[in-house]
Amino acid sequence: MQETKSTCPYCGVGCGVVIEHDGAQITGVRGDPDHPANFGRLCTKGTNLHLTATPVVLQHQRLREPAKRAARGATPEVIGWDQANREIAERLLAIRAQHGPEAIGVYISGQLLTEDYHAFNKLARAVIGTPHIDSNSRLCMSSAVVGYKQSLGADAPPCSYEDIELADCVLVSGANPAWAHPILFRRLEAARGGKPAHKLIVIDPRRTETAELADLHLQLRPGTDVALSHALLHAVIARGWVDEAFIAASTTGFDALQALVADWPPARAAEVCGVAEADIWRAAEWFATSPASLSLYCQGLNQSSAGTAKNTALINLHLATGQIGRAGAGPFSLTGQPNAMGGRESGGMATLLPGHRDPGNAADWAEIEALWGVQGLPGRRGHTAVEMFEAAARGEIRALWIACTNPAQSMPDQATVRAALERCELVILQEAFAHTATARYADYLLPAATWGEKEGTVTNSERRISRVRAAVPAAGAARPDWRIARDIAALIDAGLGRAPRIDADTAEDLWLEHRAATRGRDLDITGLSWALLDATGPQQWPFVTGGTPRLYTDGRFATPDGRARFIARSFAATAEATSPQRPFALTTGRLRDQWHGMSRSGSVPRLFAHEGRPLVRIHPGDAARRQLTAGELVRVRSERGEVVLPLALDGNIASSGADIAMHWGDEFIGAQLGINAVTQGAFCPDSKQPELKFSAVAIEPAELP
Ligand code: SF4
Repeated sequence: MQETKSTCPYCGVGCGVVIEHDGAQITGVRGDPDHPANFGRLCTKGTNLHLTATPVVLQHQRLREPAKRAARGATPEVIGWDQANREIAERLLAIRAQHGPEAIGVYISGQLLTEDYHAFNKLARAVIGTPHIDSNSRLCMSSAVVGYKQSLGADAPPCSYEDIELADCVLVSGANPAWAHPILFRRLEAARGGKPAHKLIVIDPRRTETAELADLHLQLRPGTDVALSHALLHAVIARGWVDEAFIAASTTGFDALQALVADWPPARAAEVCGVAEADIWRAAEWFATSPASLSLYCQGLNQSSAGTAKNTALINLHLATGQIGRAGAGPFSLTGQPNAMGGRESGGMATLLPGHRDPGNAADWAEIEALWGVQGLPGRRGHTAVEMFEAAARGEIRALWIACTNPAQSMPDQATVRAALERCELVILQEAFAHTATARYADYLLPAATWGEKEGTVTNSERRISRVRAAVPAAGAARPDWRIARDIAALIDAGLGRAPRIDADTAEDLWLEHRAATRGRDLDITGLSWALLDATGPQQWPFVTGGTPRLYTDGRFATPDGRARFIARSFAATAEATSPQRPFALTTGRLRDQWHGMSRSGSVPRLFAHEGRPLVRIHPGDAARRQLTAGELVRVRSERGEVVLPLALDGNIASSGADIAMHWGDEFIGAQLGINAVTQGAFCPDSKQPELKFSAVAIEPAELP
């Protein structure tokens, strides 16, 4: 028996795991007692990780050999790596020559490692020359990125997990950590156990398992978060709970915000949000007057056409009350994916450049050209996720290279996404698992190594960089993602008569390039090395001479003048509204024991014990009014599409609300487009994050043939 320390590949908590194996096969997994995210604990998904690497899974569910389709709809035929790489390079070069580099898009994933991100970033921007690279992290945290940048000057979550234990008041907004970040929830539960005066406030349209634990649950109407935050600030100001010294010394813009929130007395917000006025006053008091208040937030704020405004409105509360830069205090966004943070740091997204640089800034592009030793990088931001598929549906993007993600299930407005995949003349899919919805559209399928088989690093929600390690050989002929990108990039470079622009023999070579891009930046990790990570364990950035658990402790922020900014944004309605024709506000979200499109977690039968099939949940009162009964099949219909599902009655859903788990695709729901047939591509104008948390739908009895 051998043991290899690594990191869980599921959520952004980033728990350390110990992989048990015999050098050929993974036989078990347990929590790493030395990892500061989880101290040995694992949730149900993590505990069962080894079951995603059984011989049956490796043989039948993994993509093991490169394959090619002679035509769309044909059965893929196995080919060798040399042929796959050569043909893909030739076809990309031909499209590039005929239509320009911008006819090629690269769509990657927050589950890739930082080293993979770096390789893909160079592949897109330096080798192909396209600005169009984005990640599925666009769907989960881009509003948090822009919120931090607008308010605090940098995309840097200021807190640590230990602040969960140190806080006296925790405000959970638009998040259900009991299911989506279970180990953090356990830390929260334990912290409350030792503090009789501890306050937990939950803001969520659903009465979730997290809300069950709360002292106060504000069950607001979906999409009204900004109004509620403004009312909380109104109450704070009205009662004199602001931290005037902090506002004067460390912020700008308070007067404009004060004028804005003057129009949001709690009585008005109570009506708009559908919560009790007294609860708004109580929440404001607890948040402002507790010695240390922490907020934890996630997709309920981010996946919105007002995602950035929701983020900045919450950060406003922290700034006005001085609840930031101290132990147990601060705004703390939780990342959904295991390495969404690494993607942000390495700049593998349309709106980011390496080292938190900005693609809208010519000087930042010049610095990257100098670091990478290339000239003529695209010099502008490219299409974000929704924009990229819309451009492909219009025929402007002709080739899509997709890695480690399943847009034919996970993207909103599936009709547009599938039309885009159909229209592209070349779809390359790099994947570990064989049976995703996107695989059906791929002209080339490239087998990727996955958890337990590859080396690299990830960064979790608290800026902590952990090593990911290989314990066993990759399944079949699978290769690390960075290597697949590098090898095809070398052939493209050769075709263009130049030296390879991704010059790396190992994942660590790529990490060293990434590290160099952080020098002098807010996320500087130039004091860190893989050897140091191996010797001392995971570390938090910035790391020049040591790690940094908490940011802004001196009251200085990452803005040019060192002052945090109050952002005064008016409350705006959701992109679409409910109506008599579509009276339900639909949200989609995670279950406790499943992950994304279930390509990994779906291979473990015991993970279906918590919930075994897709359901649409509505309030029993809504069902009674429509004479709908539990278990009957109903049609959930939006302006864009429909799905047919069994109905579940759930008193935890607010009246006129509906909820569907995000995990099931069309393979579970018949010949349709999966749950995202009904969701919308409308996005936040600042972050470009789509509004997955609100779709206006009708729910009717399904008339089956
Ligand atoms: Fe993995 Fe997240 Fe569970 Fe930790 S909390 S074991 S990172 S899924």
